[in-house]
Order: sequence, then C-alpha cells, then structure tokens
Amino acid sequence: MPLLRSAFISLSRNRLLRRFCERSLAGRRLSARFVAGMEIEDALRVAEAVNGQGIAVTLDSLGESVTSEAEAHRAAEVYHQLLDAIAARELNANISVKLTQMGLELSPELAETIAENLAEHAAATGNFVRIDMEDSSLTQVTLDIVRRIHARSPLQGAIGIVIQAYLYRSQADIEQLVAKGIRVRLCKGAYKEPAEVAFPRKADVDTNFVRLSRMLLDSPVYHGVATHDDAMVAEVKSYASQHGIDASRFEFQMLYGVRRDLQRRLAREGYKVRVYVPFGREWYPYFMRRLAERPANVLFLARNLFRS
Ligand SMILES: Cc1cc2nc3c(=O)[nH]c(=O)nc-3n(C[C@H](O)[C@H](O)[C@H](O)COP(=O)(O)OP(=O)(O)OC[C@H]3O[C@@H](n4cnc5c(N)ncnc54)[C@H](O)[C@@H]3O)c2cc1C
Repeated sequence: MPLLRSAFISLSRNRLLRRFCERSLAGRRLSARFVAGMEIEDALRVAEAVNGQGIAVTLDSLGESVTSEAEAHRAAEVYHQLLDAIAARELNANISVKLTQMGLELSPELAETIAENLAEHAAATGNFVRIDMEDSSLTQVTLDIVRRIHARSPLQGAIGIVIQAYLYRSQADIEQLVAKGIRVRLCKGAYKEPAEVAFPRKADVDTNFVRLSRMLLDSPVYHGVATHDDAMVAEVKSYASQHGIDASRFEFQMLYGVRRDLQRRLAREGYKVRVYVPFGREWYPYFMRRLAERPANVLFLARNLFRS
C-alpha cells in the first residue's frame, strides 16, 4: 500500500486529531468539499439539487463505532427522519447505513434489530437501505445480518449490501448474494487490509473489480457499480453494450464532490447515476479516507482554503 494512503488511513483513526478537526471552523470548511453540511436540512437541500441534474442520491448520516445503545438509537432516528423526509419531498434518494453506527460492536443483535426496523420503514415508504461495508473484521457479520433481513419476505428488495473488490473472498460472496437476489454495490474498498485477506496491488484490485462487475451485470438484479475510475467505467459500459444489457438495469455510483464531470457526463449519456451524499458532524474518518484515496486532494483543498 503506498505510503501516503497508509498514513491517511492511520490518521483517520487518530482520536485527538479527530476531535480537534471536527470542532474547528477551518476543519469544517475543509470538509465541505466532500460533506454536504452538518444538518439533515443541508443533506436534503443537496439531494434536491443533485436530483435536479437527473442524478439519484444515497444519504449517509456520518458516524461509526458508537459506544452506547442510546447513541445507536439516536443515529437510527436520523435515518428514520430521512426516510420520512425523502418520501414527503419526493426525492430520488435512498439511505446508506454503517452497522457499527447502529451498535454492531456493542451487540450484533442490536445492530440487526435497528437495521431491520430501517428496512421495514424503507419498505413501507417504497425505499431502500444500503448497508455500507466496513473493515474486513466485520465482513461476515455484515453479510449474515443483511442475508437474514433480506430473507424476511416483506423486506426483500428493501435492503442491499456493499462488496469490496480488494478482498479475496468477494467473488464467492457475490455468487451467494446474486443467487439470493440481493442488491450489491461493488466498490474497490477503502480500509487498510493485510495481504492475508486483500490484494495488495492496485492492478489486481482493478482486475477483480472488472471480473465482479461482470458477474453483477449478468445477474437479473439491479446493482450499483461504485467507482470514479475512468478505466472501470469504460469496462462496465463496454461489457454492457456488448452483451445487450440495457443502461436501465444498473447504476453507476460516485461520492459527493468527486469527479462531478464524470457524474454529469454519464447522466447525459443516459446512464443511471447515484451520488453518495454524506452529512453530519462526525465527518473526520470519512474525510480522511477520501484523502487516502487521492492524496493530491490535500493540495487542492489547501489551495481552496487559502483562497477563500
Ligand atoms: C458510492 C460509493 C460508495 C462507497 N461505499 C463504500 C463502502 O461501503 N465500503 C468501502 O470500503 N468503500 C466504499 N467506497 C469507497 C471505495 O471503496 C473506494 O475507496 C473509492 O471509491 C475509490 O476507488 P475508485 O474506484 O474511485 O478508484 P481509485 O483507483 O481509487 O481511483 C481512480 C481515480 O478516481 C479518482 N478518484 C478516486 N477517489 C477520489 C477522491 N477521493 N477524490 C478525487 N478523485 C478520486 C481519481 O481520478 C483516481 O485516479 C464507496 C465509493 C463510492 C463511490
């Protein structure tokens, strides 16, 4: 793993720096590039503007690894409010949820109950809950929870998962998920993982991403391909067109503030595009993972900070 990427991922876990950045005005200004704002209303406003460009949204209330049951329930309450607001304002948006924010590390049963309640609320409002994937110590438990919730018949179609192409296990996981009809978001993977579980070389991650994206495109289920990588996007477009897979059968997904040119171009070309819009006060770990993906962002952000 290149040194800078590794350094930013380590920094993403630094509690002192996190507390300082999240509370400082400069930190908040820096985060604005990748984070819609601090409040629900900020996220809804951004969602409406993104929808106005013909692009769908998934809303992420930032936060991970809560330390009490009450905190997990408070985090879930924000998502319940979002589901109601999305329905009331008729936004083209769903929600993305991290199970550690729903108490996974305190009690997997707690996280499962909260996720199930969210899936029920989503089903009742014609919406969908995407469970984000976190580090590899949580892959199996996350898959188990999503599979169990999906198996409860009124909730089929209301919950989906994320698979990371950097993990060796992902091909087998996709085979099982596709067989059950569970919607997958495929991404490369954003955490620091050892070579025992994940491909260390970017070229191997990319090759696996292409292989897994084809498995998803071949399945009858509606999946998401999450990447800003021109080469991955080109592979997906070409495979779909060669195999007669209509552009309405899958979506590209990208992060708020990243490759806006590519987001708009794909939407103009008639592809479905969804932007992941994070908001909230606990933006620091998310922000650091974005810098890890592209350390050149530091220069870009610094220039903007001093300019404004
Ligand atoms: C919608 C969405 C949801 C995601 N959900 C998860 C999840 O649940 N779990 C998880 O582990 N990961 C998640 N990720 C992150 C993902 O795993 C990657 O870390 C991230 O998308 C970078 O990979 P890439 O495919 O864009 O390609 P890379 O190979 O990292 O980058 C290719 C090119 O894309 C551009 N680019 C990539 N990242 C950035 C950036 N931050 N800023 C500016 N340009 C950039 C650059 O031009 C770069 O050269 C998600 C990503 C997206 C888009």
